Amino acid sequence: MSNTKWVYRFDELDAAEAYVDDSWESVRSLLGGKGANLADMTRLGIPVPPGFTVTTEACLAYLAADEQFPEGAWKEIEAALAAVESATGKRFGDAANPLLVSCRSGAKFSMPGMMDTVLNIGLNDEVAEGMVALTGDEHFVYDSYRRLIQMFGSVVLGLRDELFEHVLERARLRRGVESDTDLTVDDLRGVVEEFRGIAVRFPTEPIEQLRLATEAVFKSWNGKRAIDYRNAAGIAHDLGTAVNIQTMVFGNMGDDSATGVAMSRNATTGENEIEGDFLVNAQGEDVVAGIRPTKRMADMAAEMPELYEQFAGIARSLEAHHRNMQDMEFTVERNKLWLLQTRDGKRTAQAAVRIAVEMAEEGLIDRTEAVMRVQPDQVDFFLHPQFSPEAKKAARLLATGLNVSPGAAVGVVAFDADLAEEWAKEQNREVIMVRPETKPDDVHGMLAAKGILTSRGGRTSHAALVARQFGKPAVVGVSELQIDLQKRAMTVNEIEVEEGDWISIDGTTGEVYLGQLDSIVPDIDDPWLTKLLEWADELRRLDVRANADYPEDAERARAYGAQGIGLTRTEHMFFESERLPIVQKMIMAESPAERREALEALLPLQRSDFDGLFRAMDGLPVIIRLIDPPLHEFLPEQQALTRLLADHKIRLSHAGTIDEIDELLAKVEEEEHMLARVEALHEANPMLGTRGVRLGIMLPDLTRMQVRAIFEAACAVARDGVDVHPEVMIPLTSHVNELSRQRAALESEAKAVMEAEGIEVSYLFGTMIEIPRAALTADEIAEYAAFFSFGTNDLTQTTFGISRDDAEAGFLLAYLEEGILDDNPFATLDRNGVGKLMGQAAEAGRRVRPDIEIGICGEHGGDPRSIALCHELGLDYVSCSPFRVPIARLAAAHAAVTEEG
Ligand code: ADP
Ligand code: MG
Ligand code: MG
Repeated sequence: MSNTKWVYRFDELDAAEAYVDDSWESVRSLLGGKGANLADMTRLGIPVPPGFTVTTEACLAYLAADEQFPEGAWKEIEAALAAVESATGKRFGDAANPLLVSCRSGAKFSMPGMMDTVLNIGLNDEVAEGMVALTGDEHFVYDSYRRLIQMFGSVVLGLRDELFEHVLERARLRRGVESDTDLTVDDLRGVVEEFRGIAVRFPTEPIEQLRLATEAVFKSWNGKRAIDYRNAAGIAHDLGTAVNIQTMVFGNMGDDSATGVAMSRNATTGENEIEGDFLVNAQGEDVVAGIRPTKRMADMAAEMPELYEQFAGIARSLEAHHRNMQDMEFTVERNKLWLLQTRDGKRTAQAAVRIAVEMAEEGLIDRTEAVMRVQPDQVDFFLHPQFSPEAKKAARLLATGLNVSPGAAVGVVAFDADLAEEWAKEQNREVIMVRPETKPDDVHGMLAAKGILTSRGGRTSHAALVARQFGKPAVVGVSELQIDLQKRAMTVNEIEVEEGDWISIDGTTGEVYLGQLDSIVPDIDDPWLTKLLEWADELRRLDVRANADYPEDAERARAYGAQGIGLTRTEHMFFESERLPIVQKMIMAESPAERREALEALLPLQRSDFDGLFRAMDGLPVIIRLIDPPLHEFLPEQQALTRLLADHKIRLSHAGTIDEIDELLAKVEEEEHMLARVEALHEANPMLGTRGVRLGIMLPDLTRMQVRAIFEAACAVARDGVDVHPEVMIPLTSHVNELSRQRAALESEAKAVMEAEGIEVSYLFGTMIEIPRAALTADEIAEYAAFFSFGTNDLTQTTFGISRDDAEAGFLLAYLEEGILDDNPFATLDRNGVGKLMGQAAEAGRRVRPDIEIGICGEHGGDPRSIALCHELGLDYVSCSPFRVPIARLAAAHAAVTEEG
């Protein structure tokens, strides 16, 4: 351990690479993302102020040793500092020619604003006077000095920042100015004096400042807000942070100095243009904190054209080097440009898609990599609700701010994070969190809210970064918004909005509306997404079908890229108001003749349902599942019926006219009859009762009617030239004999129809596998099934012996919290249990019938991790809701690429 190297200068990247295993991943683990990239930029010859990195290993050793520097570490820091002194020709703590440094945290994964940085280290009264003599700029020196004490006070000494802000505010008021930059030298000297009175433990010895700041950064790794952030972002807690000590460059040296944060491409739309914020005569923190209104990078191009061009050139080369969009910090000190940070930029889903596609077209990455760079869940964004144009027109537009994280959100205003969280979690209310600006302590409220609105801050502000990362719609920097936190109200263009009032924000456009706006789901006509999904289609092996009950769903699914229908639930059609009475008559029938009469009335209705579906899916397979739920679901609920009956009996006893009596008598008789039937149909466990294939066995006329409707419709559309492929699915099989009998009866019906119509259509009969016994005897079942469709909702219920409704309302949450289950098995397929049954069944099915078609329907079909499992099990397709079809297409491609390694 004693020969561990704890410190690497920015120009020692080779040594760091030699120390670890040479992979960039390991270098980043050692030096942190910020340090690794500073060293990398140094090697590329990009202007980076000299400095060095104290490693994450040093941080971990320090924390493990009860906050003691590991042996030799401090000596290495002093040596590296001496090297920086000779590189810059300045001396740390030397009033005649002082070196100032920043002390910057930098973990492996960027954690915006979570860890702390101290600027201008090395200043004290003497050094300040020396710098005044050197630069002749007292204002700059005392502005830097007061910043040091302020940052040191809050970051290292743990003092509340408001204490300092108060002093500044009073100084501004006294001077009658709005901005700190307008304070005079005397004001700033006074501020420094007052700050010293607050931060009494501020060390005047520069090396002591450096040591305490370094330790504070180490300790901040275990601070509450860092831990909260890591929990929310899924970052490991045992990585530690590195510390970067770097020569200060000054963006606050006058109008030829500036500081900024910029992305190499637009992080919201993905457009290939440099985009960001910058400020003349300011230090780095000012841009991010949103204290002053920032300018756009386009203004920099106009105001500092040469520097802008130089920056743009560096941005392009960094992009090419990292093959990714970069997020960069820079500072201009007296017309000299310095890069202070670069990293892969965070971006919206929309931008991620466009950037991936355009980078592939530019030849920076290949198509497979482009596909892999977009996460399936990001595609969800394109299907997210947006406000409808009509709703916008009718609504009251309050103001427009920066559109930093797209999507529409509606909620009640909450002015602080705790209230936002309480309303959202405990009262299930939809909340928009509104703040002047957000801080790391606000993250819990932001996560609970539907959307975020701030009056200050730019595109790179904390609020914008967090919102984008967690996919929350956000509008920031709405300067017309006046928030009065005492009064719990805000005023926008003369309109007052109180806490609890409804507002709607559109993060795609930056608009803020009063009230609750209606939203619509956009069509996914984004040209880059279309292309990306086409590339995904070339990579995937799984087909993607959709679950759709109505022709318009089928059409939408097809537009989204579905390759067939994996599930049509016929019973949905039975619940429609004009049909329900006929269905009830069928259930209540006392003689076969009466039942046939009802079924004959249903036949044309079902036929027309299928007609539309078949036409919409011309050329593609359509799986139609025969009736599945228990019949009592189509009858009135027992208690309601009992009450109605009692009511009618009372009215009967008071009835006056003969007509009235006759009418009520008829009702009572019908209701008594119905009640008797409801009671007879009552089951203790309907989920395990007379449903699925069992219904077809008990009431063969019912499923025969459905099959007749399917084939009559198929023949009719075939006659019109439609290429129709019905696949009849028999649900809930547990024993092969159920299937063999139903199939025989139904297939002869199908053949009879085709014979009568004189048309042959290609069809399949198959079954759902949703009972463990069916999975275990899949070889027997495959004799009678041309296809299997895993009904993974029921298969999960029956495999676990858990009723989903009861679980989700009851113990499931506790199971997840206590880690008894890692995932909700109704959302993500249970690999070891349900997945194993599926794997065995698929294999057994294929053994008996090599060309058997196997897929899944049910919500898992749209879940990326479940899709990956289906790919591994070698299924032919997944079927999911139309809205998840694009996600499934991408997830299936990811599964295929991941498998190839
Ligand atoms: P964060 O991770 O919060 O962005 P940073 O360490 O990047 O923290 O620093 C905060 C701000 O200070 C950034 O704007 C950065 O550019 C600026 N900064 C850091 N070090 C220096 C330096 N040596 N000279 C000038 N500005 C600096
Ligand atoms: Mg930074
Ligand atoms: Mg089922």
